[in-house]
Amino acid sequence: MTVLVLGDQLTRRHGPLSEGSPDVLMVEATAFATRHAYHPHKLTLVFSAMRHFRDELRDTGHSVDYRQTETFAEGVETHLADHPGDELVVMDPPSHRGAERLHDVVESAGGSLDVVQNDLFLVTPAAFDDWFDGESGDSDYTHEEFYRWQRRETGYLMDGDDPEGGEWNLDDQNQESADPERAFPDPPRYDPDETTREVLDWVEDTFDGSYDTDEKGGAWADPEPFCWPVTREQALDALADFCEHRLAGFGPYQDAMLDGEWSLDHLLLSPAINLGLLHPREVVERAIETSRGRDDVPLNSIEGFVRQLVGWREFMRQTYRREMPELATANLLDAPHDLPEFYWTGETDMHCLSDVVESVRKRGYTHHIPRLMLLSNFALTYGVEPTRINEWFHAAYVDAFHWVTTPNVIGMGVFGTDVLTTKPYAASANYIDGMSDYCSGCEYAKTKTTGENACPFNALYWDFLGRHEESLRSNDRIGPVYGHWDRKDDEEREEIHDRADEIRTLAESGDL
Ligand code: FAD
Repeated sequence: MTVLVLGDQLTRRHGPLSEGSPDVLMVEATAFATRHAYHPHKLTLVFSAMRHFRDELRDTGHSVDYRQTETFAEGVETHLADHPGDELVVMDPPSHRGAERLHDVVESAGGSLDVVQNDLFLVTPAAFDDWFDGESGDSDYTHEEFYRWQRRETGYLMDGDDPEGGEWNLDDQNQESADPERAFPDPPRYDPDETTREVLDWVEDTFDGSYDTDEKGGAWADPEPFCWPVTREQALDALADFCEHRLAGFGPYQDAMLDGEWSLDHLLLSPAINLGLLHPREVVERAIETSRGRDDVPLNSIEGFVRQLVGWREFMRQTYRREMPELATANLLDAPHDLPEFYWTGETDMHCLSDVVESVRKRGYTHHIPRLMLLSNFALTYGVEPTRINEWFHAAYVDAFHWVTTPNVIGMGVFGTDVLTTKPYAASANYIDGMSDYCSGCEYAKTKTTGENACPFNALYWDFLGRHEESLRSNDRIGPVYGHWDRKDDEEREEIHDRADEIRTLAESGDL
């Protein structure tokens, strides 16, 4: 029997490898990497982490058949040609129809495949389905209900049957804006070793056309030096650094954005967790343990942190599993537009968007609020077709994997469906100004909705509400905003729609 280790299952501590199986097959397939115009750091991260894991397995006595092939199928076929009739075992991949596709590949090459439970999450599909169809008693996906159920199941931050501190969710204490003068700790950087350098060179030689294309305006050219953790040892070090230096501030500044500050007090470990280098359970437990021993970690920091990993991450995985394949192409609001070119180039006078795209170009990362309230909010109110912005996130972010990107972008980000969230996350410059220092350095005026230099977020926001009045006015959460829309006369509304059209024209011609 041979354990098939996929590129996002790099662990010896969970799944079949934890049971001591000595033989391993890993396939590094070039074709996978050319599906999107991936950021070079994403490709480097995945392939370097795989090669490091291969070496770690060999050092610990495993026999690893590491195939570097054009397609994944070719890697499996050549392995089975050399080991006829081999029985493979793999953890269930979280991507839609992943297990079925693996069965097809292995069986048509003459092997057999056993797909076992994926142990890299906290909640199993069966447990979620039991809860959802039974105890939840709700036909909608409600994150808050799911989160409370998980707190009870895990016992994290519980005081008997009640949440520690008396409240389940302290999100209202996690929305402080940050003082631009406040110094945030520099996160650790992991300089490329020889293995990573080889991958960097290989990525540059092999995929030059896929990321540094003229077509995308040289999109991912000149990123900063690669710095992401690629081994478990580095990921553990980064986790320790987070607990020591950033966990305390995580809560209050969770939603804050600052010009030129990319990391603030965030974990920065979604890539390592999504690759299997760290288990979400150990990350959460390490953070809780840290908070127990320290007076400076407020409850809203540790609760906010637990909510992200135990709540949102698991919730997204399960709703993706249940809602695919419709989720991937959902377009509830019939949004028709292409993605503006500045998502690739960063060339826009909108200071906030230019800064966050620059951060993506440099390192394939921004934290949650720029993803949601800048990049997605703009695409939502502009009317970008959901699959197009989803594809961009897939290509651009180092932590992007279908099971997590698609529900976040299509469900939460651009309201392509209402199964995951009950309201669209649409906001005007007022929100951005409240949560960041971007507006003060911007050529656009945050207080103007129409006319010269009016911030595009304002007209797009009202235009969006106006265009979708029929479906959104009755929405409990966003409906009350229509009181403001009602106070605008026809002339003002027409000016808003005209300004929104003008913004689309400017964006299309690269002049926004
Ligand atoms: P922190 O902000 O410090 O949070 C801690 C951890 O919680 C993260 O590492 C992550 O593992 C988990 N987490 C928090 N929120 C979510 C969430 N909504 N879904 C899943 N996990 C969550 N996350 C990805 O891992 N991959 C993606 O491709 C991805 N795309 C996103 C696209 C959009 C439009 C949005 C709104 C969110 C997306 N997220 C994605 C979720 C979230 O933004 C990132 O997990 C987080 O920003 C990663 O940075 P961090 O490690 O510094 O996280």
